[in-house]
Amino acid sequence: MEINLDYNNIDFKDKIINLPKNIKTVNVYGDNINITNLCNILENVKSNVEIKSNRQKEIDDEFLKRNTYQGFNRSILNMVKKICSENITKNDYVVDMTVGNGNDTLFLSNISKKVFGFDIQDVAIENTKKLLRENNVYNYELFNISHEKINDVLKEYEKNIKLILFNLGYLPCGDKSITTNHKTTLNAVKNSFSMLSSNGLILIVFYPHPEGKTEAQVVLEYLNKNKLKYTIYKNTPNMDAPYLIVINNY
Ligand code: SAM
Repeated sequence: MEINLDYNNIDFKDKIINLPKNIKTVNVYGDNINITNLCNILENVKSNVEIKSNRQKEIDDEFLKRNTYQGFNRSILNMVKKICSENITKNDYVVDMTVGNGNDTLFLSNISKKVFGFDIQDVAIENTKKLLRENNVYNYELFNISHEKINDVLKEYEKNIKLILFNLGYLPCGDKSITTNHKTTLNAVKNSFSMLSSNGLILIVFYPHPEGKTEAQVVLEYLNKNKLKYTIYKNTPNMDAPYLIVINNY
C-alpha cells in the first residue's frame, strides 16, 4: 500500500518512522522541505519502504555525501551498482563470487568485457544461465565450484581482474540453509588479492543473519590485522541492516 505524507505535519517524523507493516511506499510532499532534516528522518525509516518525492535528486545527493546512498528503494545494492559503474569499463574482466539468481552477473556483464561467476548450487548456475540467455548476454563463464578456488580456476587472469563482487548470504527464493560461510568467505577474500589489477577493487555485501555477522567479523579482523584499507558504506544507522565494504588494492 502507498500513502502520502506532508513533511510539514507535526507528526510527520513519528508517522514515517512507525509505518504500519502494509505500507510499502511513501510519497513525501510539502513546501519548504529542509533536505538535511528530511534525510536525518529518512535514515530511520524501515529499509523495505520505498520513498518517493519530487525532491528525489536532492535526497540522493545528500545521501551520497553521507556515504549512505539509498536511491529509490534505498538498497545498499544501489551503492554496489554505482561503484561498479564508476570503476568498470568494457575492457575489464570482473568476477561475481556468488551468482545466485544472476542479477549481479547480468549487471556486471553489461558494463565489462567479461564476467566470471562462481556458485556452489546447481540451481544458481542454471538460474543465472537462463537470465543471461534471456538477455542475449554471452560474455561470461560460470563455475559450479566454491569461490575459494578463484586463484586456481582463473590463474591465467592473475593481476588482471578489475573488480570482485561478493554478495553474501543465501539464494533469494532458494534453500535458506545453504549460505556463504565465514571460513570459505575469508579464504576467498584472501585468495582474491592476487587476482586484482593494480587499481582493482573487492566489494563485499554483508547481511545481518548470525552467519553473516560472523563473516563480517572474521573478514574485518583479517583486513584490520593486515592493515588493508577499506571503506564501509551503510544506508542506515541500524546495525542490523546489510552493508557494503570496498577494499582498494593500492
Ligand atoms: N548475486 C546474486 C544475485 O544477483 O541474485 C545473489 C547471491 S546470493 C545472496 C548468495 C549465493 O552464494 C547463493 O546462491 C549461494 O549458493 C552462493 N554461495 C554460498 N557459498 C558459496 C561458495 N562457497 N562459493 C560460491 N558461491 C557460494
